[in-house]
Amino acid sequence: MKDRIYMDYAATTPVSPEVAEEMAPYFRECFGNPSSIHGTGREAHKALDLARQRTAEAIGAKPREIYFTSGGSESDSWAIIGTAFALKDKGRHIITSAVEHHAVLRSCEWLGKQGFEVTYLPVDAEGRVSPADAAAAMRKDTILISVMTANNEIGTLEPVQEIGAAARERGIRFHTDAVQAIGAIPVNTEALHADLMSISAHKFHGPKGTGCLYIREGIRIDPLIHGGEQERRMRAGTENLAGIVGLGKAIELATGGMHEKSARIAALRDRLVRGIREKTEGVRLNGHPTLRLPNNCSLSFDGIEGEALLLRLDLAGIAASGGSACASGSLEPSHVLKAIGLSDEEARGSLRLTLGDGTTEEETEEVIRVMPEIVADLRSMR
Ligand SMILES: *Cc1c(COP(=O)(O)O)cnc(C)c1O
Repeated sequence: MKDRIYMDYAATTPVSPEVAEEMAPYFRECFGNPSSIHGTGREAHKALDLARQRTAEAIGAKPREIYFTSGGSESDSWAIIGTAFALKDKGRHIITSAVEHHAVLRSCEWLGKQGFEVTYLPVDAEGRVSPADAAAAMRKDTILISVMTANNEIGTLEPVQEIGAAARERGIRFHTDAVQAIGAIPVNTEALHADLMSISAHKFHGPKGTGCLYIREGIRIDPLIHGGEQERRMRAGTENLAGIVGLGKAIELATGGMHEKSARIAALRDRLVRGIREKTEGVRLNGHPTLRLPNNCSLSFDGIEGEALLLRLDLAGIAASGGSACASGSLEPSHVLKAIGLSDEEARGSLRLTLGDGTTEEETEEVIRVMPEIVADLRSMR
């Protein structure tokens, strides 16, 4: 067994060997600027085209609907701010949910200070937005609704098809943050009625700092980064060539054979949840029991300080995360756990274990073995 057990795949994943291999030539031999006219540049441009084609294919899009970015945060910010500014004369109302990633929430908050109005949809105790609530919130001046495909903290899948359809019917733009969904569940831009979709490579064994925004053909949004002519004049800056090549390869690998991989991971996750709960009292599984990402195990432990649990697990060689990776280090309890109705204390007693391609049965059994001891120990100290 590896000496460390990594169960934080929702935070990031290792670049797979096939992806690293595909990327390698683009640092040195094929280092060209894709905008250059000469052969070296054209070679780089060809690599961009292939990556765009692979990415488009993976989500049922056309290559010209894919715009490469620096990752999920940029894609979310761009989708929301870019739409707001492009459509500000049509309306200034935006709808999102209370459980979005901070890249969405803080972009909306920032727009709130620029004269836009934002409605934050609540979620039920399992983390689901109600499509009826979403439809009821849509107004004449609503220009955008943004609801994530799957939640990064509790794994809940959102009813994005229904929400997307309701938005489309009313001529309201629909954005979905699909960062956690790619490679885990089927994601298709048409099926979701998505106008805009955010993707990040490092969540599915691609490199960090690379992602894309899907922008449906005919949809107008303002650029966020201004400068050169790259990405059809929509996103300036010399392309992160090796990173984009890695994204293309990674998304192809992640979506190929997805059902088998997801089934294997879900079985390990279910064993993990059962194993932990069998030996420990006062443990609750957060999120939806079935409509959830196959790899997500979000637990709340009564009478436990999550930070202390994380540290003890780390000492035992197990990498997990608290309510939210972004919120860790701060004492603010996770906005997602609060939105599903957890008290501050319950939210602070939460732990997220996220499994992945590298997770083995031995690792799962080891976590099941170690967890009750640590929890009992921490509880006895209070
Ligand atoms: C990780 C994540 C992001 C941010 O992506 P980066 O590429 O790290 O900027 C956005 N949304 C969700 C749901 C995520 O899990």
